[in-house]
Amino acid sequence: MSAFRKSTPWSAAVSSEPLPILPAGVPNHPEALRALLDTSESELLAWLDTIGEKKFRAGQIRRWMIERRIQSFEQMTDLSTALRRQLAEQFSFSTLQTVRHQIASDRTEKLLLRLQDGELVECVLMRDPGRRTVCISTQVGCAMGCVFCASGLLGVKRDLTAAEIFEQVLVLHRLMEDDEKITNVVVMGIGEPLANYKNLMQALDVLCGDKGFGLGARRVTVSTVGLPKQIRLFARCGRQFNLAVSLHAPNDELRTQIVPVNKGTGLTEILAAADDYFEVTGRRVSYEYVLLAGVNDQPHHAEELSGLLRGRNCHVNLIPMNGVTELVMTAPGEPRTHQFCELLKDRGIPATVRKRKGADIDAACGQLRLNRTATDAGGESNQAD
Ligand code: SAH
Repeated sequence: MSAFRKSTPWSAAVSSEPLPILPAGVPNHPEALRALLDTSESELLAWLDTIGEKKFRAGQIRRWMIERRIQSFEQMTDLSTALRRQLAEQFSFSTLQTVRHQIASDRTEKLLLRLQDGELVECVLMRDPGRRTVCISTQVGCAMGCVFCASGLLGVKRDLTAAEIFEQVLVLHRLMEDDEKITNVVVMGIGEPLANYKNLMQALDVLCGDKGFGLGARRVTVSTVGLPKQIRLFARCGRQFNLAVSLHAPNDELRTQIVPVNKGTGLTEILAAADDYFEVTGRRVSYEYVLLAGVNDQPHHAEELSGLLRGRNCHVNLIPMNGVTELVMTAPGEPRTHQFCELLKDRGIPATVRKRKGADIDAACGQLRLNRTATDAGGESNQAD
């Protein structure tokens, strides 16, 4: 793996940057109240009962929290002042605090969020005509160690809770104009979603449930490094989510070099699990393939990849490597990228090159990371608050 890192260790590169206002790992509120979103409906009902409030208040509170773009209990204007005050005394409104908000020239927005224990994650809002996609994180850091990705540079610290995963959608929703709506959610931020399966599914239940945010499951895509057992479980979760598998190489030898967890699994098992996903859900699987100049971008790689995927109802998403300061790898030039895509298409494999979003604020694929702090944003001129 070291062959892919620049000679300056990443830690040296980071330590030369200004110190954070509040270092990662320092809680905002050492004795933080339990977040309301972390509280189950039955717990909320029980609490309402103890303070002599009617059951239907739970539904009112839930609607305020999930459907409306408010920032505090104070804004729940159809509740009595006393109840709003009691809520604020008992619960925290949010599990997430925005530490930095950046807006890219293409109107992609990225948030650096501090969790209640002081850890940091990032999430992104992307705008296309008629489409608003949010990209959310599932872990603090990542254990997978893909050699081209910023998210795993520091390893994994912990799983996000279901509330922390889901609330990223709410926080981004609040950034949007009144007439804008979230149309798609991609679970492609920091972390390996299927390694935090239980919390991910709980979060997606709130996102897609009738009593939740109400987004259609077909508008949700979960991207995985390829954990076969969890893919099979995910196939049977009862909803029609989209699955994206990060392939990145057409054979095990190369894949193990750039996606180290491949060592214990291997492509055969991953593809079998993805086929199973298609059979069970009827949803076409997409394969992501990061193009790394001189590593996996040669015509023979495209040929081998088309052989591997032949006969499968799938789609290949080519992602020219997005720059990561600490890493030496780069994207191939436009002609090579185009050639790779055409080679796949000529061989009957549907393929597209993923549009780059928010690259000027490091919000593109693989650029989200841990431990970036409030003062190291660099281009502060694009900070929105
Ligand atoms: N752990 C999940 C989610 C990762 S992010 C997974 O492995 O799929 C979503 C996609 O961005 C993945 O396909 C990931 O491999 C890719 N990616 C990571 N680093 C990248 C980089 N520097 N440039 C372009 N894409 C990258």
